[in-house]
Amino acid sequence: MKFCIVGAGFSGAVIARHLSDKGHNVIIVDERENIAGNCYTERDASSGVMVHQYGPHIFHTANQRVWDYIRQFGVFRPYTNRVKAISQGKVYTLPVNLLTINQFFGKTLSPDDARKFIQEKADKSIKNPKNFEEQALSMIGPELYKAFFYGYTRKQWGLDPKELPASILKRLPLRFNYDDNYFSHPYQGMPEDGYTAIVDNILKSERIELRLNTKFEDIKENFHHVFYTGPIDRYFDFKEGRLGYRTLDFERIESEGDYQGTAVMNYCDEEVPFTRISEHKHFAPWEADSLNRTVSFREYSRLAGPKDTPYYPIRLVNEKTILNNYIELANKTKNVSFLGRLGTYRYLDMDVTIAEALSACDRIDELLDAGKDLPAFFIDPS
Ligand code: FAD
Ligand code: UDP
Repeated sequence: MKFCIVGAGFSGAVIARHLSDKGHNVIIVDERENIAGNCYTERDASSGVMVHQYGPHIFHTANQRVWDYIRQFGVFRPYTNRVKAISQGKVYTLPVNLLTINQFFGKTLSPDDARKFIQEKADKSIKNPKNFEEQALSMIGPELYKAFFYGYTRKQWGLDPKELPASILKRLPLRFNYDDNYFSHPYQGMPEDGYTAIVDNILKSERIELRLNTKFEDIKENFHHVFYTGPIDRYFDFKEGRLGYRTLDFERIESEGDYQGTAVMNYCDEEVPFTRISEHKHFAPWEADSLNRTVSFREYSRLAGPKDTPYYPIRLVNEKTILNNYIELANKTKNVSFLGRLGTYRYLDMDVTIAEALSACDRIDELLDAGKDLPAFFIDPS
């Protein structure tokens, strides 16, 4: 059979490789001039630093299948994300841990004492947090919330934290020990040669034809089925309206040596217009010392316009209504499946993207073997 895959990010690449391994012919198109979607990495010409073009990407997972899968296509070096944050002129560590608590409140609390101390600060009247602010107040109390989350979140989302879902904050751990690993997953690492090389290896297969600089809208051939990992609203020509995204602007800083001494520095105060600075050579600690020059990026968040790269799906009530209209349309459309972060309009980490694509492959095999049609979605995006 002949399939078309739209988008050469992780979602599209995993599906393409699977179909090709099963003996099908696959054409994968991407309108960009490069593969790897938003995980694209490239060695910077002037500094030699491996730059994550669409913002820093750290691979972390608890999914054994995903971890085994990805390591077939490249070597992962140990990397632990340890984020620093500046608030009101002082540097702290994030996620909030015992060092953050002790430094912030000028104390020397033990884990048990810190737990009690924070419990006293937490707003116990909030039993079921309905939004980001309630989640924060019920978890860490007003001081830490104001210092680390209020301003940063307003900059990142352009909204008051009361308008945002509690789930955004639930992504971050709260620890009463000195563990400052940003993630709690057992596997974490960085690809030695960057993510582009990994996706390139996934796509290295006889029956995959890659067409870059190619919009799906310009493809005229017929296919048994299309796997679409682009924006779902775009597929339907925005007829139900545009789904809202935040986009990012990156301001490049190039210098000698070491700019900030760490990979990620968050700027939590609302008066500072950017959210964070990432110094990319620190994402590759095994080579950082051998590079004389360094390149860092200030990150500014704003509402995405029609021509901007979509980064973070906003998914508030209005967007969910629009999304549901597109889901209805997709379910009535034959021979197209929507996948990935843009196809399902969800914030997905790389490991979840890969896990979902691998599960879709299992289902594709079952349905094709049974001679059945493939569904519009392999996962409910609503
Ligand atoms: P994408 O990578 O977006 O790929 C979709 C591709 O489709 C794009 O290349 C696009 O050009 C192409 N396309 C779209 N429409 C069309 C069309 N009509 N015709 C042709 N081509 C089209 N995850 C982590 O696990 N760890 C992190 O640290 C992390 N950091 C992140 C930081 C930022 C700032 C952001 C925004 C995301 C981060 N992620 C991270 C998430 C990660 O980027 C996604 O999981 C991943 O990119 C999803 O892959 P995808 O294939 O679904 O989509
Ligand atoms: N956040 C914050 N201050 C910080 C870091 C994160 O307020 O210093 C909030 C912010 O709203 C962000 C959310 O916590 O969107 C989740 O953080 P994460 O680091 O997972 O953000 P992402 O990786 O999506 O940029």
